[in-house]
Amino acid sequence: MGDAVTSWWCEHALLPDGVAHGVLIDVDGERIVAITTSPSAPPGSRRLAGLVVPGLANAHSHAFHRALRSRTQQGKGDFWSWREQMYAVAARLDPDSYLTLATAVYAEMALAGITSVAEFHYLHHGEKGVPYDDPNVMGSALIQAAAVAGIRLSLLDTCYLAGGFGQPLSPRQERFSDGDAAGWASRVELLRRLESPSVVIGAAVHSVRAVPGEQLATVAAWSDLPLHVHLSEQPAENDACLSMYGCTPTALLADAGVLSSRTTAVHATHLTAGDLELLWSSGTGVCLCPTTERDLADGIGAAGVMVDIGIPLSLGSDSHAVIDLFEEARAVELDERLATHTRGTMEAGTLARAAMRHGALGFPDAGELIVGGLADFIAVDLESVRTAGGGATVESLVFSAAATDVTDVVVAGLAVVGDRQHLTLGDVGRRLSTAIAAVVPR
Ligand SMILES: [Zn+2]
Repeated sequence: MGDAVTSWWCEHALLPDGVAHGVLIDVDGERIVAITTSPSAPPGSRRLAGLVVPGLANAHSHAFHRALRSRTQQGKGDFWSWREQMYAVAARLDPDSYLTLATAVYAEMALAGITSVAEFHYLHHGEKGVPYDDPNVMGSALIQAAAVAGIRLSLLDTCYLAGGFGQPLSPRQERFSDGDAAGWASRVELLRRLESPSVVIGAAVHSVRAVPGEQLATVAAWSDLPLHVHLSEQPAENDACLSMYGCTPTALLADAGVLSSRTTAVHATHLTAGDLELLWSSGTGVCLCPTTERDLADGIGAAGVMVDIGIPLSLGSDSHAVIDLFEEARAVELDERLATHTRGTMEAGTLARAAMRHGALGFPDAGELIVGGLADFIAVDLESVRTAGGGATVESLVFSAAATDVTDVVVAGLAVVGDRQHLTLGDVGRRLSTAIAAVVPR
């Protein structure tokens, strides 16, 4: 240890075996090098009040969907009519406006205590699907946005080839496609030069709607990096898959080699018992996005069963109807209560771990306050109007805290948020307003 060590004194900290009081975390570079106890803050240390916990992992994001918040909540409609509004925003984005919007969205995430985000990225090309001079300029914009906002990014470059089962792309979907999975793989390979300790380049299958069955194996074989896939968010997807392939989407993915311990199935709302067995036996994780799933009237996935049989859960804010992983975490249990008429299927600790599962994003060294782990942690106010009186417990964190209770955020040993302010980007609300005004159709 040299002069470069920074000591953070935490009033309370969530360590692997529970909440401890008066904890000193020494950080050298981007790693934790020592964890000791000290009843008060030693001279020269930086003091963090409240409960310090590992940074939160947002395992499913489409940054540009943030522009839809409170616009798609007008009137009725369903998932499919929502999708039309989403395509209208996508059509207006170019590399510059995408950079501006994603920077503001990732800054909102930083303020909410999110230290890693997995971006499910399919907005690849220019108008009519013509590639930009740099075919990865849109992905590069996302990488730059995360760097400016100060959080880690798992860029899940998404293969998107069809407009539905056996359907050609609609004009609004042409920007998403590389023609075939081989074309997708050769473009994504070029992105790997941008990998760094803060940037993982992973892969995604948009869905079995958007990637024909015979193309799936090529995406699965591209790398051994994180691989995500939208799965059975809507019953209509299951019905169409059954009539085209004679099996469920999960079985189709299993046959093509898509399911494995590096794979995360996003939503996994409408599964059969056989589907759950396939996910479990392959080691596939599930990312639940409850605030989006309720906003889109998708339904409620079988989270309790998944936890019971040992499927690893992660959480995502997906369409960003809300960016608050505490809300996502408690929604998993609260939705389960409504669906099963049973309280307490999942403990707060299980829900908190789902909100910190950075391994699903390709950052396995984040998500725990341990020596040798990444120095990504946040402080949560225990004396706000929401949390006051609850004590320094995981239950306070999961069942009463909100994103606005995050006071401080440290990523790779560097302070990104202090006293609820983004330390380099200033007024994030104004940045969001400006960025969104530039891309929403009038
Ligand atoms: Zn999604």
